[in-house]
Amino acid sequence: MKLSKEIAALADQHLKSVDWRENSEWMNFMESVSVMCMQSKLEKMSMETNAGLAQKEYMSITSKLKEEKSLREQSIEKLLASISILDEGEEQKSNFGQDDLLQVAEYLNEQVNRRKEIELELKEAIQIAEKASNAKSQFLSNMSHEIRSPLNVIIGMAHILQKEDHLQGQKENIEILNIASNSLMLLINDILDINKIESGKLELENTSFDLRSLMNNLIKAHKSSAAEKRNHIGVQIDENIEPFYNGDVVRIGQVLTNLVSNANKFTNNGAVEISAKELERTDSGSLIRFGVKDTGIGISEENQNRIFDKFTQAESSITRKFGGSGLGLSISKELLGLMKSKLHIESSLGAGSYFYFDLFLECSVQQRVSQSQFETARDLGGARILVVDDLDYNVIILNKILNDWNVVLDSASDGMEAVEKIQSNQYDMVLMDLQMPVMDGRGATEEIRKFNQETPIIALTASTDVSLKTELLQIGMNDYITKPFNPKELYLKLERSLCLFEV
Ligand code: ADP
Repeated sequence: MKLSKEIAALADQHLKSVDWRENSEWMNFMESVSVMCMQSKLEKMSMETNAGLAQKEYMSITSKLKEEKSLREQSIEKLLASISILDEGEEQKSNFGQDDLLQVAEYLNEQVNRRKEIELELKEAIQIAEKASNAKSQFLSNMSHEIRSPLNVIIGMAHILQKEDHLQGQKENIEILNIASNSLMLLINDILDINKIESGKLELENTSFDLRSLMNNLIKAHKSSAAEKRNHIGVQIDENIEPFYNGDVVRIGQVLTNLVSNANKFTNNGAVEISAKELERTDSGSLIRFGVKDTGIGISEENQNRIFDKFTQAESSITRKFGGSGLGLSISKELLGLMKSKLHIESSLGAGSYFYFDLFLECSVQQRVSQSQFETARDLGGARILVVDDLDYNVIILNKILNDWNVVLDSASDGMEAVEKIQSNQYDMVLMDLQMPVMDGRGATEEIRKFNQETPIIALTASTDVSLKTELLQIGMNDYITKPFNPKELYLKLERSLCLFEV
């Protein structure tokens, strides 16, 4: 505006005094006016463009800010939601608004510190629990060692009493002694098994076994108890089942024995049936369903979930009526878990029970070349056996049991005496106690192996420590037998170690 007024004043002044058409000054003036006009137009245009650009920028910044604001609101919402989860179970709930960011940050800081403290407390609690669990394992292992040694004597003596001459009136007493000592041994074994499973120390074996004889032996073992309860006991084996499979026959047998004993225990005047059925076959083996069915008292649906817990029975009256520890099914479940199988149950109150599990077993190429003679002859072919034990009654029991099996026996009362005897005599086998005065079983074995590598040495021990086997093999022992042993188990081990029959 100011500029155009000045131009108008200048024009006025010149138009009056000068003939503008011939005046070069005037012409120059007009030219500069026209240039200035042009410039002014350009400036105006550029100002307009700039204003447009500023507007656009402003719009884009505003939309970005809006976006950021909404993101921030969402984040805060999420943060508050997380805080309310953190608050779950807390007596005092925190109450933050959208604008309390600083308090939220402080609160979170507090929470992080608290969680760290809790984590620390948990770690300490775990350490204490682990210590307690180790102490429990150690206690059980020590106690069982202390119980197993005298129990071995009781079982051995009961066995001898049964075989030797006794008064007719004592027969029943001896039978009761036999039954009671065997059930005490089973209970101790169950407690030890639970302990081993819980501490992850139970290892499965994998050997070739005859599935049909496993099933038939189960029937044989339960025949008399089934007869006592007037139960019919039978076995159904699918004809597709191969004769030999690989697996842990002792543990599979243990599970089936638990199931069959229960079936018989909870059935009167009925039937118990054990079955094995091939469900599937692959190139390497078969999936087999093992089942135990009874027509007994059955289990209500409600109790079916509880009976697999440790020390738990369907009803508390069961203990009074039938006895039992409530450990059998829990051990069976755990053992099958180790074999990647599961124990199932179909039952209803008053209508019997059916327990079953599916197990994949590899077919075995290795087969037993001959059968043990235990059931028939029990003859160890005149083997010369040295029994090394410091406790007289252990030697007496072993002598009495072994004498029936055609052996020539000698004895030593400590490791030192054993070493001397082996230096000057020929033996086919040594049965060596581990804990002895003067020289213990380990020391004696190490001495013997310096001059004799051939004679099999079998340890006799009340320990059930799983690492024992490796340790004993390392010092040169060939095998071990845990006390208390039953005569059949002892016979089979001796037969195998003397290579009278191979597995
Ligand atoms: P235990 O037999 O030593 O008591 P188990 O763990 O073997 O311990 O069994 C737990 C409980 O499950 C038994 O006490 C019983 O109540 C119930 N049970 C198991 N098997 C049967 C069965 N075949 N029929 C009825 N009840 C059974």
